[in-house]
Amino acid sequence: MYTEEELLPLSGLQHLAFCERQWALIHLEGQWAENRLTAEGRALHEGGREARGDLITSRSLPLRSLRLGLSGRADVVEWHREAAHERGTLGATRLPGRQGWWRPVPVEYKRGRPKPQRIDEVQLCAQAVCLEEMLGLRIEAGSLFYGQPRRRTHVALDDSLRRETETLADRMHALFRAGRTPTVRREPKCRNCSLFEQCRPDVTGRGSVAQYLEQTVFAPEAAEASHEATAEHALRDE
Ligand code: SF4
Repeated sequence: MYTEEELLPLSGLQHLAFCERQWALIHLEGQWAENRLTAEGRALHEGGREARGDLITSRSLPLRSLRLGLSGRADVVEWHREAAHERGTLGATRLPGRQGWWRPVPVEYKRGRPKPQRIDEVQLCAQAVCLEEMLGLRIEAGSLFYGQPRRRTHVALDDSLRRETETLADRMHALFRAGRTPTVRREPKCRNCSLFEQCRPDVTGRGSVAQYLEQTVFAPEAAEASHEATAEHALRDE
């Protein structure tokens, strides 16, 4: 179990699953590319609640899990009222000011298409684990909603997805404790990386962006100093 002070952003899981260096650039070095997509992403995180019959929809719900050591927000959590014969099942809870029992279903919205890896599924699973821990219940499934094509996908939160999520969260904490940005490994996925400009895999080669800037900022001085030393040495030899 982690403490409150040790919690890391849940949103980092998707960066980490994509590339450990991307995660480090954002979460260790504070590099972030603000563009139209990220601005629109933030707009999506505005809170609110809506009730329609047996369905309540909460937006931007705060989440936390001490077991995973993560905190963040869920885009959307749907609360489905349980049928009378399912009343009080393990997956449902009471809600303040509402009759009956309600089953939470996390729903994560993505602008783009489904990805080849299970990055989105892992993020959704982490949200579900947070809700389980906070509400003391079990969540069997969540949903991913993709913009291209517009489609809602059912995601079973099975043991293998839960293990994958836990392993990734542990890895994130290990990298955070180490506090070092992994070196660049140029890969085909770099072409789709939102931090390509900050990472500059063709230029930085290795080390952190901070190191790269340091090297490029101080390199002329260093070169000048070395040139002067060589000249002085040459004069002494004459
Ligand atoms: S450009 Fe490539 S190496 Fe750099 S952060 Fe992105 S995916 Fe990782």
